[in-house]
Amino acid sequence: MKRKTDKMTATVIDGKAFAANVRGKVAAHVTRIKEENGITPGLAVVLVGEDPASQVYVRSKGKMTVEVGMKSVEHRLEADTSEEALLGLIAELNGDPSIHGILVQLPLPGHLDEDLVINSIDPAKDVDGFHISNVGLLGTGQKSMVPCTPLGCLMMLRDHHGSLSGMDAVVIGRSNIVGKPMAQLLLGDSCTVTIAHSRTKDLPDVVRRADIVVAAVGRSQMVPGDWIKPGATVIDVGINRIEKPEGGTRLVGDVDYDSCAAVAGAITPVPGGVGPMTIACLLANTLTACCRAHGLVEPKGLTA
Ligand code: NAD
Repeated sequence: MKRKTDKMTATVIDGKAFAANVRGKVAAHVTRIKEENGITPGLAVVLVGEDPASQVYVRSKGKMTVEVGMKSVEHRLEADTSEEALLGLIAELNGDPSIHGILVQLPLPGHLDEDLVINSIDPAKDVDGFHISNVGLLGTGQKSMVPCTPLGCLMMLRDHHGSLSGMDAVVIGRSNIVGKPMAQLLLGDSCTVTIAHSRTKDLPDVVRRADIVVAAVGRSQMVPGDWIKPGATVIDVGINRIEKPEGGTRLVGDVDYDSCAAVAGAITPVPGGVGPMTIACLLANTLTACCRAHGLVEPKGLTA
């Protein structure tokens, strides 16, 4: 799942191949528990409104859920759905024994309270890991559901380095869905962790100290190669669409790929790095939730 090219120093961490491997492991485990225990893991995805990007995500989540042999249920609700109706649906899914994972696609329309909605999901079925109980469990180093994007980053880092113990890690971005849980996971693996953000002073110097840089900012190509310590591992979470000089658009990350790849020891590309791992980890979390619900052995290497 790693490749090197002549033009650059860095090993490219191939998230697409890694994600296919994770989905393969999930599918094999699903087959086994279906055969041995007669249980099919089930994932329910709830989409409110018609945000085009969310519709694409929900479609590909449903497709991949079915591909690994799980049950996939989609609930598409009108944009003006009341909070009461949405909470009612979540209560129903919480009580449905055939559903092991519930994901409410964010962002929600403005009239709905995201925190209230997310915290109404049964924490054991909260496969996005955003419920306040899971945030607390992760923060105190206890067994929890771990947010999918940082979990995918952690898996790729462990695969590349083996142990992360004692490494200096800098996470750029402090969001609840990526930056903060990423920092907790790296701390859990005994890194020395710095969280940088929009008010960080001397960001280039902070980043230059890092053996591991995780960029989760949402600003296209913000991190240039001269911020990177030679040999460091760069995990690029950003997904930004920019105009191409010849017309049309393309996706880029939060790091300037070419200049960073010339200095780094390893780097994830955009697209094809962190992105594919996010859905693979959603499937892994659904399987983990199912195994925990039924007291079955959890799959190895698919959790934090
Ligand atoms: P966010 O907007 O919630 O958070 C961005 C963070 O970046 C903030 O904490 C902010 O303090 C920090 N920041 C902003 N400007 C900065 C600056 N100049 N210097 C340092 N820090 C700065 O974003 P998010 O939800 O965490 O997402 C970050 C990026 O990751 C986005 O591009 C998003 O599309 C992408 N993303 C990708 C995946 C995936 O599956 N690959 C999943 C989630 C998010």
